[in-house]
Amino acid sequence: MSNSQQLCNYLKTYKQLFVKEIYFPQKNFDDKNQKKNNETKFSLDGFQNSISNCQECQLSKTRKNFVFGFGDPNADLMLVGEAPGFDEDNQGIPFVGKAGKLLDKILLAIDLNRFEKVYISNILKCRPPNNRDPLPSEIEKCIPYIKNQIKIIRPKLIVALGKVAGKSLTGKDIPLKEMRDNTYFYNGIPLRVTYHPAALLRNQSLKKLAWDDFKWIKSQMVS
Ligand code: URA
Repeated sequence: MSNSQQLCNYLKTYKQLFVKEIYFPQKNFDDKNQKKNNETKFSLDGFQNSISNCQECQLSKTRKNFVFGFGDPNADLMLVGEAPGFDEDNQGIPFVGKAGKLLDKILLAIDLNRFEKVYISNILKCRPPNNRDPLPSEIEKCIPYIKNQIKIIRPKLIVALGKVAGKSLTGKDIPLKEMRDNTYFYNGIPLRVTYHPAALLRNQSLKKLAWDDFKWIKSQMVS
C-alpha cells in the first residue's frame, strides 16, 4: 500500500476526530534542515520498500497488510506498540482502532499529533491471528525492523507502550509498573515505558498514571 493510500485511509478513519481541524503541517524549513528531513524520509521509505514483503515468520501468511509505521520521519517522539490488530491489519496503519483513537486523543491533549514530530510503529509488523500475544520467535525475527527504524529516525525520546514493547526494547522482564519508574537508554536515546492505550480502555484506574507519564513526555518535547 502506498503512503498516499495510507494517508487517505487514515483521514477517512479520523474524520470524526479531526473533523474541525484536519491538519496538514506547513513547515518553513531552512535549506539544511529540509535536506536532512528529505534524506531521512528517503531512507525510511527505502527501508519500508525493502522489508514490506517480509516472509520471515508465519504471520506473513495470515496478514492482510504489513504495518510498517506512520508519522513524521523526523520525529522527536517515537511511540512503539506491540503488534497490529484487526483494524491496523486492514488499513496498513498502526493504532487506528479503538486504542489508536485513544492514543490520538492523548497526543492532542499534549499538543502533539501523529503527523508532525511523532512517529508510531510496533514491535511486530504483522497481526498475530485473533490478536494473540506475539511469540518470542516472532519478536526475534521482527525486532531488527523497529531497531533500524529507530536508527534512521533518531528520535529524542522513545516511548514503549505496554509490557511487550517495554520488555523487547529494554531487555527487562519486570512488571510494567516498575518499568514506568525508570528512564532507560536505547543506543543513547532516552526510553520510557508507559501503559498501552488498550490497557487504559480496559482499566480506567490506570488513566491517571498514564496521564502523568504523558505530561512528563510533553515536558521533554519542549526544545
Ligand atoms: N495495539 C498495538 O500495540 N499496536 C497497534 O498498532 C494497534 C493496537
